[in-house]
Amino acid sequence: MHDTSSKTIVLSGSHNKFGEQVLKRAGTNFNRCLHCQSCASGCPFTGAMDYLPNRIIRLVQFGQIQPALESATIWACVACNTCSIQCPMAIDIPGVMDALRQMAIENGHQIAEPDVLNFHREVLNTIERYGRTHKLEIMLRYKIKKRDWFTDLNVGLKMLAKRKLDLTPSRVSDIGRIRQLFKKSSKDA
Ligand code: SF4
Ligand code: SF4
Repeated sequence: MHDTSSKTIVLSGSHNKFGEQVLKRAGTNFNRCLHCQSCASGCPFTGAMDYLPNRIIRLVQFGQIQPALESATIWACVACNTCSIQCPMAIDIPGVMDALRQMAIENGHQIAEPDVLNFHREVLNTIERYGRTHKLEIMLRYKIKKRDWFTDLNVGLKMLAKRKLDLTPSRVSDIGRIRQLFKKSSKDA
C-alpha cells in the first residue's frame, strides 16, 4: 500500500514561477484547491466575471499569466469573502484576486475593467486626504474622469435626499500618520 495522502501532481514537470509569485503575495496555498466550485456557486458577482473564481485559481496553477492578469474577474471581485468562508480548503480567494490585481498593475497588463481601478484610486485618494472615505467626492471625481454625468444620477440624488452622502468630508485627528502609511507603501512598492 502506498501513502497517497501527501502526494501532489506536478504539472508536466514545469516550474510555475507565476504561481510561486502569486502564492508569496497572497499568502494562501491555492494548490490545495479541489475544484469543488463551492466558491463559484456562492459568489454574488459571477455575472460580471469572465472566469469563475475557481477557474482563476486553475489559471494560476497552470501558470497562465496573461489570461489571469487580464481577466475581468479580478476586478469584479469585491473581496466579500463569501467564497473563502465556503471553501473546504480554507483558501483565501480574495487574497489571490488582490495579488493578481497588484501584479496586473505593476507588470503593465491591460486592465480589463479600468473604471473599477479608477474608482479604487479615488477611494484611496480620499483616505489619503482625510483618513476616511468621502463618498460624494469619490463619486464626483470618478464622474469627472469618466466624463459621465448622467448614469446613476438618480441613485446619487436619492442618496443625497436620504442623507447618505455628507457634503463635507470628515477628517481623522492625526492625518499625519495616515499619510506616513501612504508614503511607506509607495516606497515599498
Ligand atoms: S471552494 Fe476552495 S477548493 Fe473549492 S474550487 Fe473554490 S478555491 Fe477550490
Ligand atoms: S470575494 Fe470575490 S470571488 Fe469571492 S465571493 Fe466575493 S466577489 Fe466572489
